[in-house]
Amino acid sequence: MIGKEHPHRHGHGHGHGIGKSIDYNKNPFIVIWEVTRACQLKCVHCRADAQLKPDPNELTHEEGLRLIDEIYEMDNPMLVFTGGDCMMREDLFELADYAIKKGMRVSMVPSATDNVTVEKMIKAKETGLSRWGLSLDGPTPEIHDLFRGTPGSFDLTIEKIKQLNELNMPLQINTVISRYNYDSLETMAELVKELKAVMWYIFLLVPTGRGQLDACLTPAEHEKVFLWLYELSKTAPYDIKTTAAQHFRRVVLQQKMRENKIAKGEIDYQDSITGTHAELVDGLKRAPKGVNDGNGFIFVSHIGEVMPSGLLPIVVGNVKDKPLKEIYRESPVLKELRNPDLYKGKCGVCEFRYVCGGSRSRAYAVTGDYLESEPFCVYIPQALRNK
Ligand code: SF4
Repeated sequence: MIGKEHPHRHGHGHGHGIGKSIDYNKNPFIVIWEVTRACQLKCVHCRADAQLKPDPNELTHEEGLRLIDEIYEMDNPMLVFTGGDCMMREDLFELADYAIKKGMRVSMVPSATDNVTVEKMIKAKETGLSRWGLSLDGPTPEIHDLFRGTPGSFDLTIEKIKQLNELNMPLQINTVISRYNYDSLETMAELVKELKAVMWYIFLLVPTGRGQLDACLTPAEHEKVFLWLYELSKTAPYDIKTTAAQHFRRVVLQQKMRENKIAKGEIDYQDSITGTHAELVDGLKRAPKGVNDGNGFIFVSHIGEVMPSGLLPIVVGNVKDKPLKEIYRESPVLKELRNPDLYKGKCGVCEFRYVCGGSRSRAYAVTGDYLESEPFCVYIPQALRNK
């Protein structure tokens, strides 16, 4: 997973949470650590271009513990272990245990392979992992396996999900929306319900790594998906979160205005909401500010490189050389990413730029410039109308 507008609401311990305002110039809301790049799958969209064996330069156990300390010191953000396949990392549970004992909220996103055994699920539960995320990219083996590049992956994933359900481990289903599954989203939404997920975590494809431009939806299709998701979020028994879909926040705000749930004058364009009905401003709950690459969200690679996100692969430092805090706060690239006034094209003049700002990773993947406009947004900012 790798969240972003996504941090979940069921964390425990101290640190960021609903109601607490976070200055993303100082601390991220969420840190994604790619604990290893080793993986047995070959997913078509994989940003990591995963390999079968761990890299010899992978962060050692001691370096990993130090990194966890450094992350904790940044006001205890959420921590997500990803990969590759995080299960391929032998000290995974020791690392998780260390972080959880400090009071951190940790979740993991392993690949659905035979490495995910019931024993490991039980161990994860005993260790205190907040949630388990598994990827399901289509409601049928044909769609999912094609996308994952691994025959049998669908059946295996369903089997793992059923086992997690039996253990009452909160489940998050991660889905990359692309040309592959655009026509089967309704069925997919039903399946997520049947599988008793507590969260459906949606990624809009960013054409990088093995992900290709022609597998991306058009801007109009993105808009359709967002409108559909907004409606779904009103009745779905699970939470819906999105990533690389910053403009979903704009759609949510617009729909709320249309439904007279938010008056136009009440919109705070500077510091607004994310996501779904569960987290809208209602006088009681206030969601943390939506995140974007390098802005509330930071990625540490298997060899310690720090990047705005796994999908915006510009190395801004290495935790082997410098504390994460320093890199996060001082990197000129990250500072630029955190300043929507620097964005180019329509995102730069858009009244939603602080709330949305477009996916910086998609802008980078498509144009080579992380400050460019989000390439898949249909919206025409007020500043550009009637000209
Ligand atoms: S133009 Fe950019 S900032 Fe405005 S809604 Fe679209 S993606 Fe968001």
